[in-house]
Amino acid sequence: MSLIDKYNRTIKYLRVSVTDRCDLRCFYCMPKGFDGYEEPDDWLNYTEIERIIASFTRLGVNSVRITGGEPLVRKNLPDLITRLAALPGLDDLSLSTNATQLGKHAQALYDAGISRINVSLDTVNPDKFNEITQGKLEKVTNGLLTAKAVGLDPIKINMVIMKGVNDDDVEDMVEFCMNNGFTLRFIETMPVGDTGRNAIDYYIDLHEIEHRLAQKYELIPAVMKGAGPARYVQVADTNLKIGFITPISQHFCDTCNRVRLSATGTLYMCLGDEYKYELRTILRQGVSDDELDQIIRDAINLKPLKHEFNEKPEKVMRFMSMTGG
Ligand code: SAM
Ligand code: SF4
Repeated sequence: MSLIDKYNRTIKYLRVSVTDRCDLRCFYCMPKGFDGYEEPDDWLNYTEIERIIASFTRLGVNSVRITGGEPLVRKNLPDLITRLAALPGLDDLSLSTNATQLGKHAQALYDAGISRINVSLDTVNPDKFNEITQGKLEKVTNGLLTAKAVGLDPIKINMVIMKGVNDDDVEDMVEFCMNNGFTLRFIETMPVGDTGRNAIDYYIDLHEIEHRLAQKYELIPAVMKGAGPARYVQVADTNLKIGFITPISQHFCDTCNRVRLSATGTLYMCLGDEYKYELRTILRQGVSDDELDQIIRDAINLKPLKHEFNEKPEKVMRFMSMTGG
């Protein structure tokens, strides 16, 4: 069974948000003082999430990433992971987190079946970290070290690069990742929600960063398993791999293999568009497994050919933590 959209792309990857809440406030993601969260009663419960993911796996999806908001603010997340890890056909179960609570939860997540994680970290300067996120860097570094100690591997650090904000932290971040055995990925700022649109003022084409790093290090083209849209290089004579995720300067929509499920059960076909299908209502009305599979097949045809971040940056109203980044 395969899930193929009308542009002949096979969908193999689902991102699942388990909450739109977060314990940080990265300024390019969540509005300052925001408290307009979804009600927990409207979140999919773990049985509903498991049913939807089971349907996707029957349709050929073999890779699922749990995200948010901050997924670790949702209670008993390892219980969900244990249930998902037992689903036939699901080969790859990963997590995106800001790592503030990884110190507490890394072992339980690993035991439940998370093998690899992505951690959002835009600087290793404690004051700047606080300016960007309103949080404490120490919690994140503790979380990262615990994650490494329990055996989560690879650990990929996602750094959104913003001119005049953290572009001068790139070399420190390279050293940090090199010394700790983490993979480093740079991401271009995207105009999602008003927060993302405001941050577009700090946009940098990542090719500029790559050229700068190439003055200091020898960069060799590299590949990374489960790489998704990142293009990788390796720093010669080290184990450090660096990925470039360039949705704005060089989009990768023609090979897009993913869709996203929000915490309240909305299936979003594209990060950069409003095409969506609401699954919560039909689940709560008692849809059968066969009907659910068919509804997902049909919904996939809503997936657009490409995002329009460059042509229509005003298009996406929801900010990243609402969709599930
Ligand atoms: N809280 C978790 C975290 O921070 O990793 C998971 C959710 S977060 C929304 C997922 C990713 O989206 C993070 O790496 C974050 O930096 C990125 N992100 C949020 N807003 C963005 C924007 N406007 N442009 C580019 N990346 C963004
Ligand atoms: Fe929270 Fe992640 Fe958004 Fe930062 S990027 S505010 S950590 S959801």
